[in-house]
Amino acid sequence: MSVSDDGGGGSDEKSADGWRAEEAVAGNRRALEALRELVAYPFLYAHESRLLGLKVMCSRLLPPSDSVIVCYTFGLIIQLAFFSGPEGCCSTAPLAPESPYSVHKAHVGEGEKFLREAFSEAYAQASQGKPAVIFIDELDAICPRRSDRRENESRIVGQLLTLMDGNKKSSKMLPHIVVVASTNRVDAIDPALRRAGRFDSEVDVAVPTVEERLQILKLYAKNLHLDEKVDLQTVAAFCNGYVGADLEALCREAAKLAYHRMLNISEGDKVLKLHMEDWESARSMVGPSITRGVTKEISTVSWDDIGGLKDLKKELQKAVEWPIKHAAAFSRLGIPPVRGVLLHGPPGCSKTTLAKAAAHASQASFFSLSGADLYSKYVGEGEALLRRTFQKARLASPSIIFFDEADAIAPKRTGPGGNSSGNATVGERLLSTLLTEMDGLELATGIIVLGATNRPNAIDAALLRPGRFDKVLYVPPPDVEGRYEILRIHTRKMKLGEDVDLWKIAECTELFTGADLEGLCREAGMAALREDISASSICNTHFQAARSSLNPSLTKAVVDEYSKAAINDPSSRKH
Ligand code: ADP
Repeated sequence: MSVSDDGGGGSDEKSADGWRAEEAVAGNRRALEALRELVAYPFLYAHESRLLGLKVMCSRLLPPSDSVIVCYTFGLIIQLAFFSGPEGCCSTAPLAPESPYSVHKAHVGEGEKFLREAFSEAYAQASQGKPAVIFIDELDAICPRRSDRRENESRIVGQLLTLMDGNKKSSKMLPHIVVVASTNRVDAIDPALRRAGRFDSEVDVAVPTVEERLQILKLYAKNLHLDEKVDLQTVAAFCNGYVGADLEALCREAAKLAYHRMLNISEGDKVLKLHMEDWESARSMVGPSITRGVTKEISTVSWDDIGGLKDLKKELQKAVEWPIKHAAAFSRLGIPPVRGVLLHGPPGCSKTTLAKAAAHASQASFFSLSGADLYSKYVGEGEALLRRTFQKARLASPSIIFFDEADAIAPKRTGPGGNSSGNATVGERLLSTLLTEMDGLELATGIIVLGATNRPNAIDAALLRPGRFDKVLYVPPPDVEGRYEILRIHTRKMKLGEDVDLWKIAECTELFTGADLEGLCREAGMAALREDISASSICNTHFQAARSSLNPSLTKAVVDEYSKAAINDPSSRKH
């Protein structure tokens, strides 16, 4: 428990290590303001707020909440501001944590005792007229949704509920106790705690904006020697989705790289200076932690890494890259951005690669989910992951959410009553969550949903309505020109013999997908090595050998099926 003697309000107070609150939590000014209004102002301006009937106390960030007003009006305990935000967003910075590790004790009943003691310490403090703050870190770990399987946690939730309700009853006597908790998984918390009268205010600690990132970088780079060419504004611009902790790690990594470089230079020149390339290399090592777990990799694929598909790439640039990069122009002219784009076509023809290239070109955070990620054996976990991904994408915007195998995530519904048992299947529940989340995007900016599927006709029609996947694009297998470009791309780093004619190879690889051609190039390289391990180039014979050992993954009939599906597309008429 941490107790703040002066209420932690006012804007000039210093934290324990001498920083002003703004400095200690650089960026996140909005969350700090909201916290001040909820937690500190009622302490500092108790008299004025009573006179004013408290309307002014309602946070600008939060809609006026009845329960908060009731608490204030009676001069009672404010039953808490409730931080939800990505890890590392400093939601725990101002106060000392009541962490899950201290509450989950080895012996039965010890966790509850720990909580009781924290509350009674706060009472003791408050009874002397000093405000007290009980801060619970990682509330989701201490008080997860109750279930029969986790008896210990259920008891701890019950204890906290009792303490908080008790808190309210005795509040007339003790006006100065606030319970504040932090979490990065709001939905995982037991719902009983989120009711009015308990945790009734919630403050989102968002991912820092570019300006806030700059402030944070300046803060951590304060004591570092920067070369004059280092432009922190540029570094901040490239760190979309990074939270405070990520930026701190980035500074550490950049300093480490500069240090290693210094070790390799002669004595006389030894000055530890961070160069721009140290920041760039550090960025490839420290990614934004918010995308961890839901994104596969930091996408570095560019449009030039995709052969052929010229028109399709242009179409995607217009639908995805422009609205993100030129958001201001779009809103100035009132052009509604595309919410979702569905790519369909045979496997191995670059649907995933196109989505990654779009994310890279627009410098958006890339979240990727596949059917396998969402089909969990526990009821409701897939939907929770889906909701969490949208929430993270909103926080890290601009973002692209990519659904691989979209037909598995949003399968056609069987009928009005769902399946024969009357219960919604996993697919139906995922679909309805996805529809709700996509409809919620209308209010968000900078988030585009991309989907890929080999079976567009298996996708529920509700998802193809305007405002959801409002653009449906067919990604065909490459034609001869496309194949030539794909071969060029995948042989870029290879040493090719003079006799290799990529155009000829392109001509004799009909029905090969991009993935097949990538495999062909690899196989030709292997053939050269198999022939002579010290080979210095890959020649035509190796490509011929590879060609005759590989078959295309498509057949004419299959391609016809796919293009027929494209014609039947309900939305292809529009584009
Ligand atoms: P899909 O999502 O359609 O199944 P992917 O995008 O995963 O296909 O492609 C699989 C592999 O094939 C990728 O590693 C990519 O490098 C290669 N590939 C496919 N199409 C192309 C293309 N047009 N240009 C370059 N590489 C391609």
